Amino acid sequence: MTTFNFSLSKRASTATSSVIREILKVTERPDVISFAGGLPSPEGFPVEKLRQAYDTVMSNHPKVALQYGPTEGYRPLREWVVSDFKARGVDITVDNVLVVSGSQQALDLIGKLFIDEGSKVVLESPSYLGAIQSFNQFGPTYAAVPTDELGLVPEGLTDEIAKDARFLYALPNFQNPTGRTLNLERRIALVKRCAELNLPLIEDDPYGELRFEGEALPGLFALSQQYGGTVIRMGSFSKVLAPGMRIGFVIAPEAIIAKMVQLKQATDLHTASITQMAVYEAVKDGFLTEHLPKVRELYKRQCGYMLEALEENFKGIDVTWTHPSGGMFLWLTFNESINTTELLPRAVDEQKVAYVPGQPFYPLADKPVTNNLRLSFVTVPEDKIRTGIANLAKLFK
Ligand code: PMP
Repeated sequence: MTTFNFSLSKRASTATSSVIREILKVTERPDVISFAGGLPSPEGFPVEKLRQAYDTVMSNHPKVALQYGPTEGYRPLREWVVSDFKARGVDITVDNVLVVSGSQQALDLIGKLFIDEGSKVVLESPSYLGAIQSFNQFGPTYAAVPTDELGLVPEGLTDEIAKDARFLYALPNFQNPTGRTLNLERRIALVKRCAELNLPLIEDDPYGELRFEGEALPGLFALSQQYGGTVIRMGSFSKVLAPGMRIGFVIAPEAIIAKMVQLKQATDLHTASITQMAVYEAVKDGFLTEHLPKVRELYKRQCGYMLEALEENFKGIDVTWTHPSGGMFLWLTFNESINTTELLPRAVDEQKVAYVPGQPFYPLADKPVTNNLRLSFVTVPEDKIRTGIANLAKLFK
C-alpha cells in the first residue's frame, strides 16, 4: 500500500477502492469461476465488423479521426442517436445529445452538475454501485425510494424523501444489480410524480436493448414527452457493441446538455474521435438490427442455464431469486441471518466461485442489508455456470 507524506484532497482521501475492483482481481485467478464481474460476454463482440469500421475510418477520414473534435461529440453519431430514438417515437434533435466516454462518465458529469457537499440524492435501494461511487465523490447524502419485487415503488417517493433532493437516479430495465424491470404503470407513475415534484429524473439504461423476453416498454425520457417533467437519459454502446470502446451518450433538454458540455470540456475535452467514428461506421447501416438478436439469444440461453442450475442445486435452501427478462444479472435473497459479505472469502477459497455481495449496492450505510448477492449469467460458459452454481450451493448448505 502506497502512503503519502503530503496532503491529498478530501475527495481522494475519502475514496475507497471499489469492492468490484477487488473482486475483479480474484476473477483473474483461473481456478475461480466468477459470476462477479459485470463483463459482457466477449462472444457477443462484433470483432470483424469493428475491425472493418476502424479500417474504413482510417482509410477514408484519417485526418478527422486523429484530430481533436467537438465536446458535444461526432455529429453523425449524435444524428444517428436522434434517428434511433425517433424510430421509437422519441422526439429530439442533435442539440439534445451529448456523446460521453462511457455512460460512467455521464454519472460523473451528473454528480458535477447537481451535487454540492451535503446535497440530497434519491436512489433506488439497491442501486448501481458504480453510480453510488461516482456520486460519493461529491459528498451527497442519500435518501432511498423503497423497492419491491417489481422494482421501484413510485408511491414510495414521498414528499419527505423528495424534499430538497437534487435528482432521482433510476434504472428501469433489467436493473443492476437485481435484474428487475419497472412495468409501464410504474414508469408512468414515476415520471408523473417527479414532474409534480419538479425533481430531475436520471434514467440509466445500458441494458434496455438486451431484452430477451417480453415486449419492450417505453423509456422514462419518452414518457416525459407525454407526461412532463425533466428526464436525463443515459445510454451506452458497451453492451450492444463492446465496452472497451467507452462510448455512451446522454439525452437531455438542451440547456442541460449545454451545461454538461462545459463540465465535460474540463474533464476530457471530448470523447475519442476515432472511436466515435468507428462506432458510427459500425451502426450507421442498421447493423444492430442483425447483431442484437444474436446477443439476446446468447444471453437468454445463459440466463436459462443459470436458472436451471439454481433450481437444481438450491433446493432446500431458504432463498429466492429474480427471473430477469433481459440484461446480465440476477439477484439472490437469503434469509436475514445470512451475511453474503462475510461469506465471500469462503466462496472464493473453499468453493472457487465468486459473486458480488449485495451490501455495497444499498445506498444507506446506516441500514445495511447483507442477505443478497448478484450473479452475472453472461460472463462464463454453460459448463462453468453449472459447476459454479453447484459449488455456490454447497456453501449455503
Ligand atoms: N450504468 C450501469 C447501470 C451499468 O451497469 C454500467 C456498467 N456496468 C454503467 C452505467 C457504465 O457503463 P459504460 O460506462 O460502459 O457505458
